[in-house]
This record gives sequence, C-alpha cells and structure tokens, in this order.
Amino acid sequence: MYYKPFVQFFIGKRSYMELKPEKSVPARHDHQNCIDTALQEAERVLEDKGARMTGIRRLVLQYIWRNHCAVKAYDILGFLGDRKGSAKPPTVYRALQFLQDHGLVHRLESLNAYIGCPYPAENHNGQFLICNDCGTVKEFTTPEILRAVDIAADTQGFEVSHQTHEVLGRCQDCREQGNGLD
Ligand SMILES: [Zn+2]
Ligand SMILES: [Zn+2]
Ligand SMILES: [Zn+2]
Repeated sequence: MYYKPFVQFFIGKRSYMELKPEKSVPARHDHQNCIDTALQEAERVLEDKGARMTGIRRLVLQYIWRNHCAVKAYDILGFLGDRKGSAKPPTVYRALQFLQDHGLVHRLESLNAYIGCPYPAENHNGQFLICNDCGTVKEFTTPEILRAVDIAADTQGFEVSHQTHEVLGRCQDCREQGNGLD
C-alpha cells in the first residue's frame, strides 16, 4: 500500500496541499534507500502518466539523487561524459526538462541547479530550505505561504503562473557541528 505523505484541503475556490515536511535527513543514513525509493516512485509516476523512463533520464535522475544537495547541469554533463563518452548538452537539458515536466525534479532558481523531489506524485509548488554551508536542500510545503502569496497577488490583480520559495540559511547538522569544540 502506497503511503501518501500529504493532506489536501480547500479554502474558497483554491486548493492547497500540505506535504509533510521532509524528515530531517541525518548526514549518515542509508542513502541507497533514498535513491531506490526515488527511482521506484519515478517509474510509478511515469507509468501513470504514460511516459517512458529512458536510460539517459534514469541516469540523470540517479545522479541528481546522489545526495541531498542541488546539482548543476554541467556536473551532470561531466558525469555522463565520463560514463557514456559523449553526452551532448542538448541531451542532458532535454532529460532535465522531461524530469522537471513530470515533477521528478525541481529547478532551484537561486542556485541554477536541480534537486530530486520526494513527492513526485503530488502536484505542488516547491518550497525549499537550502543550507549555505553544506548545500543540503530540504523540501517542504506550508499552505499559509501559498495563501499569503495568493492574497498579495489578488490585491495586485496579478495572476500567478509559477512560484518556488527558496530559503537560504544553515541546516541543523551544520549548526550542531559549528557548536562543537573544534
Ligand atoms: Zn538520503
Ligand atoms: Zn517537490
Ligand atoms: Zn548544512
């Protein structure tokens, strides 16, 4: 039985979805499990949408999930270049666009980089906590933020087409390490 990590509720004509905040991922954990889960989810989401996971798309997604930090396109190009000999930039950008279009990755505007989405089955706006020290990115969704943006946009007669919220700072692990004796 697939566990859906969200509740959806309705306010007026708009619907907001609350994703459970991504569990704090400890620096040391079974990351292979994160990768396996993400790839399984991706297969499931694509199958539901009648889309296909090709070799290159899987490799790109796998590389993006290599850890919990955002990945630049040129890092992916370097990785695929090493692996496949000749990964052309358009191939990588097409794969990234596909993964983005199907909600499997998000693009972080402030870093010009990509992060895997832990909730690919759910249509949502990305909200992210980005650590300036270690680069870890955590996704969350707080409906109150979306409501506040809606109110502000309505007041201005502005139609929102897309929004991501990127919050920069220092993660718990880095803060705790910073409080150590060294
Ligand atoms: Zn992990
Ligand atoms: Zn997401
Ligand atoms: Zn950190």
